[in-house]
This record gives sequence, C-alpha cells and structure tokens, in this order.
Amino acid sequence: MHKKISTAELRKKNKNIIYRLFYESFADKTKQDISLELNLSLPTVTQNLNELFQDNLIEYSGFIDSSGGRRARTMKIVSDAKIAIGMEISLNHIRIVATDLYGNEIAYQRINKHFDINNDINVCLENFLDEFSLDRNKLLGVGITLPAIINNKTGMIENAPVLGIKNLPISQITSNIKYPSYVLNDANAGGYAECFFQKQNKSIAYLFIGKGVGGAIIINSKAYEGQNLRSAEFGHMCIKPNGNKCACGKNGCLEAYCSTARLCDDLNITIDEFFHELSKGNAQYNKIFDEYLDNLALGINTIRMVLDCDIVIGGSITAEIAEHLDKLNEKVQNLNPFGEKCDYIRIGSCGTKANCIGSALHFVNTFLNNI
Ligand SMILES: [Zn+2]
Repeated sequence: MHKKISTAELRKKNKNIIYRLFYESFADKTKQDISLELNLSLPTVTQNLNELFQDNLIEYSGFIDSSGGRRARTMKIVSDAKIAIGMEISLNHIRIVATDLYGNEIAYQRINKHFDINNDINVCLENFLDEFSLDRNKLLGVGITLPAIINNKTGMIENAPVLGIKNLPISQITSNIKYPSYVLNDANAGGYAECFFQKQNKSIAYLFIGKGVGGAIIINSKAYEGQNLRSAEFGHMCIKPNGNKCACGKNGCLEAYCSTARLCDDLNITIDEFFHELSKGNAQYNKIFDEYLDNLALGINTIRMVLDCDIVIGGSITAEIAEHLDKLNEKVQNLNPFGEKCDYIRIGSCGTKANCIGSALHFVNTFLNNI
C-alpha cells in the first residue's frame, strides 16, 4: 500500500530537491531552469525559492538574456549560510576545522595537547569559534573523531588503545558541548571526506598511511562498518607470511612494511628529510623506497581484488606519494591478474585534515537530507 504524502511533506520534498539541484550542479540557475529541469510548475518553484531566500540559503547572482529579450535573474547557493565544525582528537594533538556547506575550509587550528580523559574539549572549541569570529548561529554541529571503535547504537567508545580508553560513554567526551555533536571513528570520517571530494565515484576504499595504516570502505557515500566495527583494517592484511613483526603482535602485516616509520623512524630522520634525500638521488633511500612501493603495491592489489573499486590514498604520505604515482601504478599493474590498466589509485585531497573535514561533513550531510 502506498503511503499518502501530505501537502506539507510534498512541499518539504520540493524544497529539498530544488536546493539540491543548486548544490549538486554547482551552477547558477534561473527560475525557468529549475522549472524545466525538475518538471515543477513555476508557482511551485517560486514559492520554494521564496522560502530558500528567507532562510538565506540562496542569493541572486546576476542576469542572463532569455530568448524573449527579457533578462532573467540567476540565483546561486550561499555556500557559507551554514558552517560545520570537525575536531580530531588524537594522542598528542587536537585539530579543529570549520567548513562551509561544500566542505571548504574556513578556519583551521592544530593544538598540541596530550590526550587526557579530563580535558575539556569544549574550551578548545569555544576558543576556536572566538578566535576566528565564527558565527555560532550558523553552526550545524560539531563532529568529533577519535582513533577508536565507536558504537553509536550503545553510546559507547568500545576501545581506543592509542588513547588508553575502553568502554567509555561517548557523553564523557561531548557533555560540555552546547551544539549538536556526533562522535565517529577517525578512518571512517577520513574516508567519508575523501569520498565526498571524489567527483566520479561514491564508493571507494580509503587507504590511510601514516605511522599507522588503516582505512575505510565507503559504499554509496556510507562507511561499511562490518560486524564488529572492524572493517577495512588494511594495515593488518598479511602481505608476507612470517614477515616482520607488526604492532598488533602478528607478523607480515601491511602496516609493518608501509607505515611511514619505515621511511623516517627506522632511519632516525623526518619524512621530509627522507623525500628530500630521495629527490637528490640517494641510492640507499632509493632502494628503501622501491621496496616500500613493492610492498604497498601488494596491499593495494589485494584491496582491488576484494573490492574492485578506486583506492584513495590519504594520510601524511599523501603529498609525497603523489610524485611517485606512476611508479606505484606500474607495480600494481604488474600484480593485476586481469591485465587491467592501473588507473584506479587516487591521491586524497584532504591530506592530514581528512578526519576533521569528514567529521564536519557529517553535519553537512544531515543538513542536506533534512532541508
Ligand atoms: Zn598487524
């Protein structure tokens, strides 16, 4: 049986599709454009546009000459009509970002702060809002990421070994925050952000490479979490049986070979120093990096074989790996049994800010769905 849709619901639906037409096309439009593209009557379009104007969500952008010689007014989205905040809490720092409705960064701050369960993150948040003169009335909400298994159904942070917490109520982190808040896993947030900025594909594997190696599987813009909230642990795929010891206690994991520690900590240098020396043709570093890419290719090929989707590389390695993408593509292609051309590795666009941006986008997404 069909559920009868009420007039109010229909009106809300029309308003939503009109707003989304602007949002998704990135284009300025006239009333007539909207009427034609959505097959809605002009009075319906006018009425909904009036509401969007009242809410300050769209604005006039100019004129175009229409066929009858009359000039029609064009309208566009007010991209900063609302803002969202993302916070990334890790062991030694807090990152905070404010974005507009397109996920563009409006303000950013990195605070060095050692994690303590008694830290009041609300103080950092309020200071950030003050320092960048951000309008609290525009604020949709505050997304917070932790390197943790987070169960939003039970309201518990189940496990966060890096932060030394286990079975902690989420409210312990968010209780002082006066705005809507939502806590999510860091890799899922990062994957969501990288997926958001991919124009063609809304399903990706996000391979995070930093000191740790992890990731997320995003299917139709939604994280696939797995039965135990442990999906996409790419860092602990075994690429070498009986290989090097991993931090997880097992041997031969991808993380044991492709953590950035292999390129800096092992050599007692910084990652920047490594790539600087590499660019100067240091033979020893060249050999190390070639093996690094061989191992990374093994991991990427496995992900491709299982998921058959684009693989977006993110994390602190992003900028450096971009310069060596041709070489990596070649290595992955050599492993591909179907002879596919390796054009499925993408370089993330958010770098080390992906987790923050992704958690802010949680509220953008909610806004878009409910407008
Ligand atoms: Zn491992």
